[in-house]
Amino acid sequence: APLLQIEGLSVRVEDKEILHGIDLQIKKGETHVLMGPNGAGKSTLGYALMGNPKYQITGGKILFEGKDISEETPDKRAKDGMFLSFQNPIEIPGVSLTNFIRSGVEQRTGKRIRFFAYKKELEEMMKVLQMDPSYAERDLNVGFSGGEKKKAEILQMLMLKPSFAILDETDSGLDVDAVRTVSSGVEEYQKSIHGGLLIITHSTRILESLHVDATHVLVDGRIVASGDGSLVDEINENGFERFL
Ligand code: ADP
Ligand code: MG
Ligand code: MG
Repeated sequence: APLLQIEGLSVRVEDKEILHGIDLQIKKGETHVLMGPNGAGKSTLGYALMGNPKYQITGGKILFEGKDISEETPDKRAKDGMFLSFQNPIEIPGVSLTNFIRSGVEQRTGKRIRFFAYKKELEEMMKVLQMDPSYAERDLNVGFSGGEKKKAEILQMLMLKPSFAILDETDSGLDVDAVRTVSSGVEEYQKSIHGGLLIITHSTRILESLHVDATHVLVDGRIVASGDGSLVDEINENGFERFL
């Protein structure tokens, strides 16, 4: 079975249906890109996959590793290995980056971590992301720049090792260097964790150096086109015009 199988998924937010019958399959080790104009419903799909209660499934289902998880809580989905990087990461005063990620890892695995091994791995991953080591002891996202917040999200992904990760516009608002660094973090995930990836983006910069297996275009809550990695280049040149 594919890692993630979305079948005829419709999602309502408040009183409005936003997604209308989405079908999508992602296999282990594959990287899929979801593109589309603002307001198309990209983030809605991310939240619905993670089980955010505001996003109500009105049709279809989500299978993860062959199991219907449509009714599972967000906590359970995270434990099962799903991860969503937020478009706007929250600040948590009083909780250091180290301790935040540590408790996430412990919740996910159900085991106490071995602190020295954990610290060593955290340092290594921060190096990959070109984060200053001092960030480890700083309160999560408090006073972080936009770029550092996005790096902290990718760091969480690399430490939690989800079998499926959704990155929602992790590249938006970043300068060229930060995009490149975030992109090397994603590459690290592809090669060392080898899970499934859904990269939501409306730019194409993060994709320049990444291997992409499939691209999907979402317009008005429907997937209107799918193709291989070259669809990204085409959209890069011509925009979404022909899909509208
Ligand atoms: P995208 O990520 O593609 O820009 P979104 O999924 O954020 O699109 O939004 C799709 C539509 O759903 C928009 O019309 C937006 O106003 C609406 N929407 C999304 N989330 C909410 C919410 N929490 N409350 C109300 N409306 C929402
Ligand atoms: Mg948007
Ligand atoms: Mg969005």
